[in-house]
Amino acid sequence: MKKSLGEATVVAADPADAPDLPDLEDASPRQVLAWAVEQYFPDLTIATSLEDTLLVDMAYRVEPGVEFFFLETRFHFDETLQVAEQVRWRYPGLNLVMLEPVDNPAVWSEDGYEACCNSRKVLPMNNHLRTKQAWVTGVKRVDAPTRAHTEHVEWDAARGLVKINPLARWTDDDVAAYEKNHDLITHPLKSQGYGSIGCAPCTMPGAGREGRWAGSGKVECGLHVTTQESP
Ligand code: SF4
Repeated sequence: MKKSLGEATVVAADPADAPDLPDLEDASPRQVLAWAVEQYFPDLTIATSLEDTLLVDMAYRVEPGVEFFFLETRFHFDETLQVAEQVRWRYPGLNLVMLEPVDNPAVWSEDGYEACCNSRKVLPMNNHLRTKQAWVTGVKRVDAPTRAHTEHVEWDAARGLVKINPLARWTDDDVAAYEKNHDLITHPLKSQGYGSIGCAPCTMPGAGREGRWAGSGKVECGLHVTTQESP
């Protein structure tokens, strides 16, 4: 069965392939991560946008060899790339993979946001996830209405692997408290009013994700499509 993700096309998994997944609703983020590592490491990868370093810190404490990936779109703020350098120093041996855009990638200003995100985020990530059994995200229910029903453990039907969201139940205050208590590296733009940080041309200051693709009507880049019904 084919599924369209804008210009990107992936082969949707047969729903019958979905494994039995546990109900981890009451588990803490660390417990969810420990379960993920126990079940899937090393066929597990963790997405990080580096707008914060919470998930890097938590997962590295559970398993220092676990893989993280960052979508190097070539349009990031310099400050974001500086955070990447800082985490490599702070977490020795950090397994941080930079995923490059496809060949001849689209450009937002000429080809539109959808094509640009597809060639610089969605396709590189989908190609990478084909080699894994499970992936971990930093998605929280409070991020956006589109994320309000995020579960700790889900079946990513569009890609045919398990999707794990250890921070699903956390609030922005929970994140701030963890960052303070563990003296984490923080993104410098957070203190300048950027609630969410993506590529520089598509990110403005604003609460939550309201500064992402502001005024365009676009709210997601397509990375978190998990069902066959909601492209
Ligand atoms: S967020 Fe903007 S610059 Fe980044 S990949 Fe998407 S459209 Fe392109």
